[in-house]
Amino acid sequence: MKRRDWSDNFATSPKDITYAMTSFTVTRQIAIDAGHRVMTHGSKCRHLHGHRYTIEATCLADHLQAGGEQSDMVLDFGFLKEVMMAEIDVPCDHGFLAHAEDFELLDMFCPENADAPEWIAAIRHAVRREGHHLTTATRMETKLYVLDVNPTAEQLCRHWFGRLKPVIAGRSGGLARLQEIVVWETPLCRATYREP
Ligand SMILES: [Zn+2]
Repeated sequence: MKRRDWSDNFATSPKDITYAMTSFTVTRQIAIDAGHRVMTHGSKCRHLHGHRYTIEATCLADHLQAGGEQSDMVLDFGFLKEVMMAEIDVPCDHGFLAHAEDFELLDMFCPENADAPEWIAAIRHAVRREGHHLTTATRMETKLYVLDVNPTAEQLCRHWFGRLKPVIAGRSGGLARLQEIVVWETPLCRATYREP
């Protein structure tokens, strides 16, 4: 009779199985200053105000880079910072974050010599096409970043996740996957968005 061997029950050795169940993550943090208002809020958040947002991006991989300049890394911290600066800091820092449905607010930003309904319609068209629109062609030439969602911490998490995800996959040669974005709106309040 054939002796039962552990390998009859396992496609791979226990050691391989242990490796298959492990993963690495790297997390990078940046901070930006931005204004916003939550137009649907019943209380103080509908007023124009600003936050020092702290944003954390966590990337996951089940093994490390095997060669090249990112050897033994999930993703170079420097690359992650570059991506976060390009996709979050550059468009949003010292800007005002506005919902494309917030007509009253957009009207305030409309240049004096422009036709407000036309100006707002053009912005809304750009947001429908891209999911966001950045402009400084506003009444006081202040930076305005318009989103297709209310700029709550939760929606900002999901919005920035969508911008970062494909870039991170590209910078890591497909190895690292963006796992979650955490947005701290104040030192005491944070929101998280993650994809399985
Ligand atoms: Zn707020």
